[in-house]
Amino acid sequence: MSEKKVDFYDFEGLLEKAHDELPENVKNHASRFEVPAAQVTIAGNRTIIENFLDIAEAMNREPNHLLKFLLREVGTAGTLEGRRVILQGRFTPYLISNKLKKYLREFVICPVCGSPDTKIIKKGRFYFLKCEACGAETPIQHI
Ligand SMILES: [Zn+2]
Repeated sequence: MSEKKVDFYDFEGLLEKAHDELPENVKNHASRFEVPAAQVTIAGNRTIIENFLDIAEAMNREPNHLLKFLLREVGTAGTLEGRRVILQGRFTPYLISNKLKKYLREFVICPVCGSPDTKIIKKGRFYFLKCEACGAETPIQHI
């Protein structure tokens, strides 16, 4: 039973490396950052993420950007309906949670200082993760 527990609230692990070297203002900011765990319901041959919009808002990202990423990652079709997303096919909460963590790592958390206080900017044909805390601009892929 030594396998690392996947808990969407536990994003501390993403920060632990950089955390000790952060200035206080960044630390405080990072510790306030909370993304709700995905509420996943499987109904027939569909998977519903009940609180999808809450998750996108907590990440401060466009819901459609997060949705495009998720659909590509799990290889299915899906639609936003109100605050929910409905995916074609059956996917475990474990899988959904892992994909959301991957999105956090690639499109939200600054890889330089670990701050979640970032935004996506476009320069010419290229996209960057711009960090409001340390000013770093990290190239990211276009979804
Ligand atoms: Zn940064």
